[in-house]
Amino acid sequence: MSSTHAIGVDLGGTKILAGVVTRDGEVLRRHERATPKTQDELYVELDAAVDELMTDDVGALGFGIPGPIDQLTGGVYEAVNTPIADPHFRGRMHERFGIPVGIDNDANAACIAEWKVGAARGVDDVLMLTVGTGLGGGVITGGKPFRGATGAGVELGHVVIVHDGRPCQGRCTGRGHLEAYVTGVAATAAAQEAFGPAADAHRLVRLANEGDETARAILADIGRHLGSGMGSFVNIFEPRRLVIGGGFGIAAWEWVMPAAEEIMHREALRPMRDEVRVVRAELGTAAGLIGAAFVAFEALDES
Ligand SMILES: [Zn+2]
Repeated sequence: MSSTHAIGVDLGGTKILAGVVTRDGEVLRRHERATPKTQDELYVELDAAVDELMTDDVGALGFGIPGPIDQLTGGVYEAVNTPIADPHFRGRMHERFGIPVGIDNDANAACIAEWKVGAARGVDDVLMLTVGTGLGGGVITGGKPFRGATGAGVELGHVVIVHDGRPCQGRCTGRGHLEAYVTGVAATAAAQEAFGPAADAHRLVRLANEGDETARAILADIGRHLGSGMGSFVNIFEPRRLVIGGGFGIAAWEWVMPAAEEIMHREALRPMRDEVRVVRAELGTAAGLIGAAFVAFEALDES
């Protein structure tokens, strides 16, 4: 079997994005579906995505999963915003498709993609935050992905920025986590409070673009919370490049990031804060699936 291509699948809280990817990170064919509400339906959609993209030149599969995973067992713990929890996820996919399968946290996958072929290429110390339905994080340190003991790390969205603060999202039982303050879901909640039940994060950004001061103030407040997290992460990991991606993060960049960077510079210490550069993700919504494909190639090369 040839190993020139891999299928990368980015399992998001809202959408499943899959694609056939070359070793250079070029996406050749794509597939997109809505993320279903149950695990059984989710497996039907994941299988359909792979079946539709599968050709003879595909040598491996990679999955970016929006929650903690175990690289040793191939298991997926309960994801916060997506209906999946399966201790045999990787084995199940390997049995179903008969080729090597790699898995990673979805934000780790996006970070790997931006590091290899995107906004942080050529940089050995990278931190990425994906600001979407949830808040994901990925870290490259010393030219290698940082994954913790089993691969469950790094869950940067679930650090506490407000002690005993707002309940977190989805199935997370924590309080005051960064994710509860800065995601598209948090933006929609704030938009509804200010503009009524029909408002959402998209409308909030549109209003800000049109000059609405209330919308701009809400987005700046989200930015200040994000900046608290960014400053803390810069102090811990000393990245040289801090990449912001995710649907909401990119869409709201103009209104969120000035406030975020201001607070980041207040919270981070020297020399870290002087050396880090905050940049917009370059690969857009494809980052997750491209990174999942790189994880697939990693599994293929180790098999
Ligand atoms: Zn949480």
